[in-house]
Amino acid sequence: MHELSLIESMLSIIREEREKHGMTRIHRIRVVNGALSGAVSDALSFGWECLTQEGDMQGVALDITDAPLQVVCGSCGWEFTPEDVHCMACPACGEILGHEVMSGKELYIEEIEADIPD
Ligand SMILES: [Zn+2]
Repeated sequence: MHELSLIESMLSIIREEREKHGMTRIHRIRVVNGALSGAVSDALSFGWECLTQEGDMQGVALDITDAPLQVVCGSCGWEFTPEDVHCMACPACGEILGHEVMSGKELYIEEIEADIPD
């Protein structure tokens, strides 16, 4: 399950941020998972629970926002969210090929909610 290794790299990013900003207690992590990121949100949640059962990240909540796929038609420039990621017909002109993906491939940490002493 590659989501586990994604969570591991997320945890190391979070630890670096904690170090850098002197966070005392982390409450919640917000993550954005694009429709084409290749990671399944349920599997990410499961991996997070596994890897934060004990240790320094115990009890930290993980919120995952699923970001829809957004593309621009390669033929007419119309921006749309395809209903089917495998066959993306443009609603404006019907073109299926050559669209540019604007968002939906991303997987990133949007926010870390934590206590930072003054
Ligand atoms: Zn089009």
